[in-house]
Amino acid sequence: MPPKKCVFCDISSGKQESEILYRDDELMVVKDIKPVAPVHLLLIPRRHVAGLTYASGSVSNTLGKMFAMAEEMARRQAMTVSGYRLVVNQGPDSGQQVEHLHMHLLAGRQLKAMA
Ligand code: 5GP
Ligand code: ZN
Repeated sequence: MPPKKCVFCDISSGKQESEILYRDDELMVVKDIKPVAPVHLLLIPRRHVAGLTYASGSVSNTLGKMFAMAEEMARRQAMTVSGYRLVVNQGPDSGQQVEHLHMHLLAGRQLKAMA
């Protein structure tokens, strides 16, 4: 069951506005509201899953699709040659803010070393 208030569920259901670049029954791609790079997209399963820790076998197909879609989105943004980074935050130490599984796609500048 999704929590009472989940911003990504609200975007998925159309209750909240967002710049949606792609959407099908399984996943959507939106522009991050506070981008930290020239290209900052979020790949989000339509169905509520709190995070990777809670992802069961039933979402493994969606996870695979998220990676394929990330490469597709990077290609559309002409970022496959210069490169891009995919990030999934899970839990407090990662700084996860939204407890609905999502993958960040960052690109468009030389990214700093991680951590
Ligand atoms: P996290 O830290 O959980 O991995 O990342 C959550 C991301 O969601 C943040 O980069 C944040 O800017 C983004 N975000 C939070 N609220 C909204 C929203 O209402 N719309 C969009 N498009 N992005 C959001
Ligand atoms: Zn949700």
